[in-house]
Amino acid sequence: MDIKLQQVSYAYSMGTPFEKRALFDVDLEIPSKTYQAIIGHTGSGKSTILQHFNGLLKPSKGEVHIGERVIVAGKKAKELKPIRQKVGIVFQFPEHQLFEETVLKDIMFGPMNFGVSPEEAEQRARDLVGLVGLPNSVLEKSPFDLSGGQMRRVAIAGVLALQPEVIVLDEPTAGLDPRGQREIMDMFYQLHKEQGLTTILVTHSMEDAARYADNLAIMHEGRCVLTGAPRDIFADAKTLESYRLELPRIIKFQHKVEKLMDKKLSKICLTE
Ligand code: ADP
Repeated sequence: MDIKLQQVSYAYSMGTPFEKRALFDVDLEIPSKTYQAIIGHTGSGKSTILQHFNGLLKPSKGEVHIGERVIVAGKKAKELKPIRQKVGIVFQFPEHQLFEETVLKDIMFGPMNFGVSPEEAEQRARDLVGLVGLPNSVLEKSPFDLSGGQMRRVAIAGVLALQPEVIVLDEPTAGLDPRGQREIMDMFYQLHKEQGLTTILVTHSMEDAARYADNLAIMHEGRCVLTGAPRDIFADAKTLESYRLELPRIIKFQHKVEKLMDKKLSKICLTE
């Protein structure tokens, strides 16, 4: 399912004295089954854009195309339901939204809310615990008896239980230790590769963007100022700096190695 933003502008509290324009004429295309990262400094408009991917926010101007469906200003909430099933959003600290007595019920809640039978919802929950790296024994436990990292995995399973075609990740590893961060990011990457899940990662982590994404979009002061493959975007450190972004460490390191290799090569050439 392709996603396309066409000339999307958004203003909070539009038409009031508190009006705050947050997006300006954003164009962005995310082809089906790709891994897109959206990066930018704080306040650049990442969260605002993210909420347009499933109609939580509707553009003040412009169009958001999700597959065959279009979100424009004034679209009714009822018409957005199919989009909300197709596009799952993992918000920051998703475990804050856990509320059921057991992990099983929590994972089943979303699909049942979308009309899936209890039997089918339970089957999905049982299949998903393993996929998100939890033992089956957690299903009957209270989510509140689990560790922070485990709770996060339960919340992610709850989003995946809707069987979305697109998953949008909002800083999905915030607050986890480095090992937990890597495990969760690798899990999403595996899902993306094995199940063809279109993945949109909203992050300020240049490392994650470099490591996982096929394409990057750079946000700056409400505008999408640069799009392209990580290799091309990271080739221009100066431009990134002008958007208050740094090269990821792995790229810096790679550049250092290349420079060293150059020196060594020129030495070899000179001595030959
Ligand atoms: P980011 O996610 O990149 O930090 P945001 O999308 O949260 O950026 O914010 C973009 C701009 O919109 C910022 O100037 C921010 O202050 C403003 N903004 C965000 N949320 C609201 C809101 N609920 N009401 C008014 N302004 C907001």
